[in-house]
Amino acid sequence: MSFNSSPVATISFEGHSFYLKRDDLLHPDFSGNKARKFYYFLQNDFPDIKKVVSYGSVQSNAMYSLSVLAKMKGWELEYFVDHIADYLTENPHGNYAGALKNGMKISEQLAVGSEQFGEDVLFIEEGGRQKEAEYGIKILAQEIIDWQKENNINELNIFLPSGTGTTALYLQKSLLTPHSSLLAHVYTTPCVGDSTYLKKQFSELEDNEKQHPTILALEKKHHFGKLYRENYKIWLKLQQQTGVVFDLLYDPLGWRTLLAHPEVLNKPILYIHQGGVLGNESMLPRYRRKYPSISE
Ligand SMILES: *Cc1c(COP(=O)(O)O)cnc(C)c1O
Repeated sequence: MSFNSSPVATISFEGHSFYLKRDDLLHPDFSGNKARKFYYFLQNDFPDIKKVVSYGSVQSNAMYSLSVLAKMKGWELEYFVDHIADYLTENPHGNYAGALKNGMKISEQLAVGSEQFGEDVLFIEEGGRQKEAEYGIKILAQEIIDWQKENNINELNIFLPSGTGTTALYLQKSLLTPHSSLLAHVYTTPCVGDSTYLKKQFSELEDNEKQHPTILALEKKHHFGKLYRENYKIWLKLQQQTGVVFDLLYDPLGWRTLLAHPEVLNKPILYIHQGGVLGNESMLPRYRRKYPSISE
């Protein structure tokens, strides 16, 4: 199975014009960048594999996409988390409910590592942070290059928010291989951890710093998964001004950071919508409860 190239839309937000790469529309069951990161496993045959094992947060987009992959491949999925809240066990929703429906087996266990499993197990690092991700992200880069050519956009700035930084890193790396005179520069911001953490993540996947994306950040420290008034407000504004639903974990900080760096906006700019909207099912009710006075 393969994907068609995802569409590019033009949107206007807060008085600026943006191109928007709709990777959220790649496939109805895969979350945008997780579909890119797991594409290698989708496209190739693994006759010895019977089971996927991974770990991370109980509402993660990667977990849900892995459950889709496992279902398509006829593999079992075993997923480890630190803790499952009673409330969630009693009221499954969001990525967690979706993954259970696809047959995921979930267990509470502190540390898991690839060495614990046999030859018939495919072990996936948290969030899909691994070399195989490059395969699908190269295809994303090629789609962008083709689109630049078609539209005569010689110099492009690209922005996407980072978790592990895997997508941003491989995207910048793939765009640097010589393509006539086209230039594309990748900017990102850390949503999990700070700039130092993100830089370290880049270095683990690629030694050559010339191939790293440029990190932009807001001055104030940001905690992943915390409910910030500013994040909720910009998410609502995005929906009102562009009609597009973004994810609530990464995109609000992404857009806030981008708008705070006008120097990046003076070239044509492509924002990558990396999916994750199913996760809003768990975030949105929490925002509504915390900020009842903010109207939608
Ligand atoms: C996973 C995810 C990210 C982070 O991707 P990384 O490759 O880990 O940096 C960003 N946005 C959304 C919507 C995601 O699901």
